[in-house]
Parts: sequence; structure tokens; C-alpha cells
Amino acid sequence: MDYQSIINKIYNEVQPEVGKGRVADYIPALRNIDDHQFAMAVVTVAGKEFTVGKTDENFSIQSISKVFTLTLAMKDIGNKLWERVGREPSGTSFNSLVQLEYENGIPRNPFINAGAIVVSDAIFEGRGKTKNRILKFVRELSGNNTITFDEEIAESERIYGNRNRAMANLIKSFDNLTNQADDVLDIYFHQCAIAMNTLDLAKSFLYLANSGIDPKSGQQILDSRMCKKMNSLMLTCGLYDAVGDFAYRVGLPGKSGVGGGIVAVVPNELAVAVWSPALNKYGNSYAGTKALELFTTYANNSIF
Ligand code: GLN
Repeated sequence: MDYQSIINKIYNEVQPEVGKGRVADYIPALRNIDDHQFAMAVVTVAGKEFTVGKTDENFSIQSISKVFTLTLAMKDIGNKLWERVGREPSGTSFNSLVQLEYENGIPRNPFINAGAIVVSDAIFEGRGKTKNRILKFVRELSGNNTITFDEEIAESERIYGNRNRAMANLIKSFDNLTNQADDVLDIYFHQCAIAMNTLDLAKSFLYLANSGIDPKSGQQILDSRMCKKMNSLMLTCGLYDAVGDFAYRVGLPGKSGVGGGIVAVVPNELAVAVWSPALNKYGNSYAGTKALELFTTYANNSIF
């Protein structure tokens, strides 16, 4: 498949869409980013890379990090996690508090903020240790040792993170948080503030396209059953309350973040990452969603 021609064509076609929508201004450190940026990277299980646009520009991966922490939690405690977090789409925005109260502090799924906070609690072994573990994991997956936290963004999230703080405390009040809310939030804010580029991001999702084995290192990151589960969760919960629209338009398991990144997986074939900071009203990249829709249309490689 000539992925380079396909993404070149997509690049030209999405130009009028780039900058449509709004950057995530509820995190002040994300507010000033140039919204007219776009990047797309495809990495195949066979080891080929295709890029277009600003694929070496770092951005804040935000909620995409929830896939990395969930992978670590699945390795650590496997199915026991599901006693504390659900596996259904929420139908509400990623930072909604409403359902959490009705459902006794058990978040609907691991990809809304409440669920990710519980996942971070499940892998907590001390602030520094857990942050280092997450960073080491992402560096290994991407093969890029320079990936690190953007401390300015982490601090901005901490200062303006009242909603996440309310969520963590509500979960704690239902006894579904083992550690102190502020300690867990420190992990959560930092994982969201990991900065990496679009090519690194595609590379670091390749294990999910390859039955849990990272084809670059041959390392088994997740066993194949867990890998299936992770992809199913991304398909049903990875784009919050726009997950139906994304499945309809793109037809791949994917995960988005309010930094404007979206990454998706074609099982047994490739991982594809896009980045464009302006978001639609659901908090997903506007041009990024469009680019992925065109990708599965031109490459005819949706899972459906
Ligand atoms: N750090 C962001 C938050 O907590 C993550 C949200 C997202 O990317 N959807 O609100």
C-alpha cells in the first residue's frame, strides 16, 4: 500500500479544516499554541514509516496517556481492575462528575478522567517512582529516550485542575482510591503532560496493532487477549461522547487527547497518529478526525 501518497493527498485535502474548532483553553498552558498545525504519521508492523507535516514537533499527549497507564495496570493486576472501573461508554464528556455520583464512585470506563484517575491509583507506588515508570515505558515503546514531561503544562493542570480534584475526592469518598487524592493527581497531571511528536506516538502504539508484541523490540507488552481488550475499549470508549461518530466515520480503535492528538490502530497492520490542536466540541481534534476518516476511506482499511 502506498501510504505516503495517501497521507500526502490527505494533507492537502485537510488544509481548509486545519484551525477549525478551538484549542483547549481550560488548561491555560495549552491556550497559546498555534492552531494552524498539522502532522500525520503511519508506522507499519513491518517497520515502514510514512510522515507528512510537522511530525517532529512535540505536543501534549493529554488523554492518550491513559492507554499507557491502563496497559501498566493490566500488566500489574489484570482483570481485578474491573472491580474498580467499568467498561462501558459514558455518553458524557470526559470530565463529567454527574455519573460518578450516581454510580457510587465507580467510573464508567478507564478513558474518562475519573477512570484514568483510578487507573493511576492502581499503579501508584509513590509519586516519583510511578512517574518514572510511566516515562520509561513510553520511552521504550517509542524508542525515543528524550521524551519527558512538560512541567509547565503539568503545573498548569494542577493549578486549574479543580474539576479533576473534585473527581478524585469524590472517588475517594466512595473508597475507590487507595492513595491520597493529591498524590494520585500528581501522577495523572504528569502523564497528561507527556510531550512527544506524532511519529513517536504512532510508534508507541504499534504493540496494539501486533497482538501485544512491540515489533521493534520483539517484547510482549500485553498478552494477545489483553491486547484485544485494549483495542475494544478504545473502540467503545476512546473518544468520549464522540465515540459513535468516530466509529462511524473512521472505523478504527483510537484514542484522543485535548492536546489535539489522535492515534488509531489497524490490527495486524499499522498505527496511525495525527495531530492538529484545534478541537471539536467533544474535545477531539477537528482536522485530525477528518484526516483519519479520509485515511480509512482511501486505504480501505477500517476494521469493518
Ligand atoms: N488533562 C486533561 C484533563 O484532565 C485530559 C483530558 C483529555 O485529553 N480529554 O482534563
